[in-house]
Amino acid sequence: MIIYNTLTRKKEEFVPNEPGKVKMYTCGPTVYHFAHIGNLRSYICEDVLEKLLRFSGYDVKRVMNITDVGHLSSDADTGEDKMLSGAKREHKTVMEIAKFYTDAFFADFAKLNIKMPDVVEPATNCIPEFIHMIEVLLEKGYAYKAGENIYFDTSKLDKYYVFGNMNEEDLQVGVRDDVTEDTNKRNKNDFVLWFTKSKFEDQALKWDSPWGVGYPGWHIECSCISMKHLGEYMDIHCGGIDNMFPHHTNEIAQSEAFIGHKWCNYWFHVHHLNDETGKMSKSKGEFLTVSLLEEKGYDPLAYRFFTLQSHYRKPLTFSYDALNQAADTYKKLKDRALRIPAEGDVDQAAVKEWHDKFAETVGNDVNTAMGITLLYDVLKAELNGNTKRAVIADYDTVLGLKLLEETAAAAADNGEDVAEIEALIAERTAAKKAKDFAKADEIRGKLLEMGIVLEDTREGVKWKRAE
Ligand code: AMP
Ligand code: ZN
Repeated sequence: MIIYNTLTRKKEEFVPNEPGKVKMYTCGPTVYHFAHIGNLRSYICEDVLEKLLRFSGYDVKRVMNITDVGHLSSDADTGEDKMLSGAKREHKTVMEIAKFYTDAFFADFAKLNIKMPDVVEPATNCIPEFIHMIEVLLEKGYAYKAGENIYFDTSKLDKYYVFGNMNEEDLQVGVRDDVTEDTNKRNKNDFVLWFTKSKFEDQALKWDSPWGVGYPGWHIECSCISMKHLGEYMDIHCGGIDNMFPHHTNEIAQSEAFIGHKWCNYWFHVHHLNDETGKMSKSKGEFLTVSLLEEKGYDPLAYRFFTLQSHYRKPLTFSYDALNQAADTYKKLKDRALRIPAEGDVDQAAVKEWHDKFAETVGNDVNTAMGITLLYDVLKAELNGNTKRAVIADYDTVLGLKLLEETAAAAADNGEDVAEIEALIAERTAAKKAKDFAKADEIRGKLLEMGIVLEDTREGVKWKRAE
């Protein structure tokens, strides 16, 4: 497999530390709000990467953290604590907010057919590990105490800007109007490992530590959680491109200072999904969530398809026009796959040949768009039905589009009562148009008795058989 490595800024042959095994880490969400579909673009691409590694024969162990403490509104340790602001907004406790949004996040994972990581660990589970790492960093002289907080001293490193192409001017803390510089820092990029004193007198979650009661900085969690479950040598670390600095830069700084050797070989960064006005936001404009798309009648997998049509290393612009097109193409593709007749013996040699073609093509830096092109090639190929089905099922273990999964609505198309159901739906639509809602409800009830569930969507009424 070939992967673009942000650390070397080159496409490289992927070689894990241990043959056949991959240790993979993903920065998880800050659970103070719903994830927007931009965040989920990153998680879809990372899911495809994991599935592609498995498809290529690797045994993968993937770990993800949940940020439920320590992430301030500016990544440079200033601004308000995101969890606290979420709790205030909803008049709930921080832990209630964390639980609610963690559950919502994984509900989105299920809808988008994203595999659960093998290990999911909330930051608040690992406070003793954080304290231990900070103690070692202090002992080794990589950290210092100032203003009653503990900071990482970036001047102690030979090279801090490991991702290279950064413009120091752009990275300066304090350049944005709403961000005030922390005068405790010895160097402008030093970052907080442990807060005992900050402007948040009402910080909800606090723990005892050798430096007083306080709470961890944001970056320390990923270093500790990854090492707890994957050890000191990691193969691939993922996140959105905004995580590259300061988050991943700081993770590398403290991890390598702690272990004394190189930590992770490959860095995989997904570029952003933007809306037409620019950056995707949770506070301005339409807050684009998977649930919102569903309310508008979209299948979440149509959004997955939309993201797979583009390359993860290019920014992607979201618009409803583009999504409509993707939804339409996805539906047609799925219909074609479902219509493949289940006939003939599976030609195993052909399946292997198509498997290898996919591994090579998509394996060239996670080229999902080429994977979709290959799907069309399979549909057109001179293969019997069952062989085509086998190849599509194989590809779908990576693409995750449920192409051969007969949804209730699709299955129903073959039922004998379809004409009657559709006649009743037409009657109900006419009743609604005539504002005879009692009649429309009565018909809905009758259909329900027949085991038929209706869904009013932008594209009209859809129906499926109750499970
Ligand atoms: P957060 O919950 O803010 O920690 O972000 C969760 C993940 O989403 C991180 O990997 C971010 O880098 C990523 N991310 C944030 N905004 C976007 C975006 N607009 N498009 C793609 N990924 C994003
Ligand atoms: Zn992280």
